[in-house]
Amino acid sequence: MTQTPSTYEVVISGGRVIDPASGRDEVTDVAIADGRIAAIGPDLGAGTSQTIDATGSYVLPGLVEGHTHIFEYVSKVGAPAYEAHLRRGVVAAADAGTAGASTFAAFRKLVVEPNPMRIVNFLNVSVLGLIDFRYGELLNPDTLSVEDALQVASENPDVVRGFKIRLSEDVVGDQITPLLKKAVDLGEQGGLPVMVHIGETALSVPEIVDMLRPGDVIAHCYTGKAPTILGEDRQVQKEIYAARERGVLYESAHGRSNLSFEVARPAIAEGFLPDVITSDTSARNWRGPVFDLVTSMSKLIALGMTIEQVVPRVTTAPAKLLGIDSEGFGALTVGGPAHVTVLKEVGATVLPDAAGNTIEAPRLEPTAVFLSGAAHELTPWRGLAS
Ligand SMILES: [Zn+2]
Repeated sequence: MTQTPSTYEVVISGGRVIDPASGRDEVTDVAIADGRIAAIGPDLGAGTSQTIDATGSYVLPGLVEGHTHIFEYVSKVGAPAYEAHLRRGVVAAADAGTAGASTFAAFRKLVVEPNPMRIVNFLNVSVLGLIDFRYGELLNPDTLSVEDALQVASENPDVVRGFKIRLSEDVVGDQITPLLKKAVDLGEQGGLPVMVHIGETALSVPEIVDMLRPGDVIAHCYTGKAPTILGEDRQVQKEIYAARERGVLYESAHGRSNLSFEVARPAIAEGFLPDVITSDTSARNWRGPVFDLVTSMSKLIALGMTIEQVVPRVTTAPAKLLGIDSEGFGALTVGGPAHVTVLKEVGATVLPDAAGNTIEAPRLEPTAVFLSGAAHELTPWRGLAS
């Protein structure tokens, strides 16, 4: 019997395909043609020009990063989007407040437009954005211009998917409550979520979440910087759960100083998991201690989360948060765009948190990434050099 020549361009064969959107979790093949997922099923490889052997690996929807800083050239914290993300398995990302209304046009031109990745943002409520972390962007509270932020958001609905406010005392001075109120009101007027940076804030986390709406996001839920989500009994405070019940979201946002194993470990043990896993990559941490999103995933697995818990939190959940699920991100759908990330587990690696504590655990490493069916070259883990 003659075999029909395959029309597939690439077949990723024999990997464990996990697609939370459809509930699929099985060892099978994924075929790509014309930039789309052409088929998912067994034995698709015959006659295909390129087969990737994914035996023993995870085949996932292209990873989505919900919190990063990629406003390169303009901001001191801006990491290079392509190098830091796509070359480490991430196909879409949200910049979290590096650009403000006055710098957004440059963000669009320098970062969004030239990059093959899908890039959106949480617009900083300060017109200044986060240009230089040494000088808090809201110390002059007048920089929170509702009018300017609404104008940029309404003119750029394809990119602006929310607003960002940092509440640390060195950013807001003594104006935390009025500024947070104004930011939430801005979110309400713009019909968008507000992402709120905690850590070194004058208000407790229960006081902060009490001011948030369903869909608003707490960034750095496992920060070790006071006040944390834990109470004096080292359990997650009941108000934190109550806010989650109302629809407030929590993301892990590692960052240079905001993932504490000492907070994350007991929180995960009692079942308090982040809604979205993010790295908070920036120019200050992409060579360590954060490195990239897959390293943040590895750390949370080392602290007790399972791969089945981690995958939806880096695919379906962030795609929904960023409003790019409707574009086919975060899912492996036959006929949908072929955004695929293949990960394998590599040997035990010493992984640091933000405070210098370490844990030794297997590490996830990307071995292939496809964006709309196009393969992009990966770069080795940056921790190998150090
Ligand atoms: Zn951040």
